[in-house]
Amino acid sequence: MIARANHRIAYPCRFQLIAAMNPCKCGGSGPGIACKRGQRCATDYQARLSGPFLDRIDLNIEVPAVSAADLSLPTAREGSAEVRARVIAARQRQEARFDALGVKGLRINAHASGHLLDQIATPEPDGAALLRSAAETLGLSARGFHRVLRVARTLADLDGIETVRRIHIAEALSYRGESLRQRQAA
Ligand SMILES: [Zn+2]
Repeated sequence: MIARANHRIAYPCRFQLIAAMNPCKCGGSGPGIACKRGQRCATDYQARLSGPFLDRIDLNIEVPAVSAADLSLPTAREGSAEVRARVIAARQRQEARFDALGVKGLRINAHASGHLLDQIATPEPDGAALLRSAAETLGLSARGFHRVLRVARTLADLDGIETVRRIHIAEALSYRGESLRQRQAA
């Protein structure tokens, strides 16, 4: 919804945002590599992403630079075709679950409401305990809390497991980008 003085217009906006950035504006730093301008360069650059914006990003992954030595390594054990098959199977599980619940027009976890997540993504007790303590220590917003559940439900679906386990909550939490936020706060 874009609101201006005399206009208010709503655009359809169900989208998936995939974005990438360098650790600092020179592009020269990264895990194990310091920028010539020092840590401040990366801190200032990353602080340009606001907390509320980062809060809406489910999977935050630090990717080390590929070195020349990496290129000579054997290719990954699991190729794109295998990953695609796992993703299709996970999506089918999700669709079947929504069908069984009689939820119309919903096919993937990404579009499930917080209320629906209570039904399909309530973790096992030790997972729930981990999420509660992480919510407190990381200061998760209500939005962030539901986003972790949604990602954890999907990770369980990728594993072909019906229950959301502690390991799925832990992995979902690891993608929250807390390291990025904590560096900003430092
Ligand atoms: Zn720099």
